[in-house]
Amino acid sequence: MSHDVLETYRDCPFCLKLLYEPVSTLCGHTFCLLCLERFILTSNCVLQCPMCREDFTYLRSTSNNLKTNSILHNLFRQEYEKEYEIRRNEIENERKNIIKKRLIIGNTDHLLSYEYDYTRHEWTLFIKLENDHQNEIGQFIKQITINLHPTFTPSQIILNKPPFQLTRIGRGVFTISLSIEFHSKWNKSDLVTSWLLSFSNTDNRKMIEIEFQKSADDATNNSLL
Ligand SMILES: [Zn+2]
Ligand SMILES: [Zn+2]
Repeated sequence: MSHDVLETYRDCPFCLKLLYEPVSTLCGHTFCLLCLERFILTSNCVLQCPMCREDFTYLRSTSNNLKTNSILHNLFRQEYEKEYEIRRNEIENERKNIIKKRLIIGNTDHLLSYEYDYTRHEWTLFIKLENDHQNEIGQFIKQITINLHPTFTPSQIILNKPPFQLTRIGRGVFTISLSIEFHSKWNKSDLVTSWLLSFSNTDNRKMIEIEFQKSADDATNNSLL
């Protein structure tokens, strides 16, 4: 590959810097591994290639094992030796400051009465972090706005401290919409998601991976987390 050709492909469409640990997607576009991982984690809606709009949904299931294109990786490392080394340092520093958390949303259910066609369930919606023994969730989430079926009064509830859970008595299942607001220091937009209430005895939950980027202050003060 000539230097000119390499030059046209060398920058990542996300960070506009020299591709580091380049990953090529099925549509043929190439991104830094870290940039692509972030893109997958932070996009709430339809996942599409930012270059050609090709469907990226398949990447959600593979986000933990995206493969670096080793040919490009080695080419760039040779061709742009100094710059590649700078990128390596940058990325390693960024990785050190990333906190990955798994948010678990689900509900428990308890059948209160069953008479003729009239059943009553007491259900509890919960939003928690995986392996969170010390209510660490409060350091990340500021408040959660919950919209229930309009037949509930009130139908909108705001939870502003952990434990983030809500218990109600009701007859049927419906989709609860949730808007999760993070503390401003994390610089994250609200996570809008939903949960379809479930009245079966199986484990009713879903998991969302979230990345938080420590600020420069926190990075030097690890006692906080
Ligand atoms: Zn990049
Ligand atoms: Zn593409």
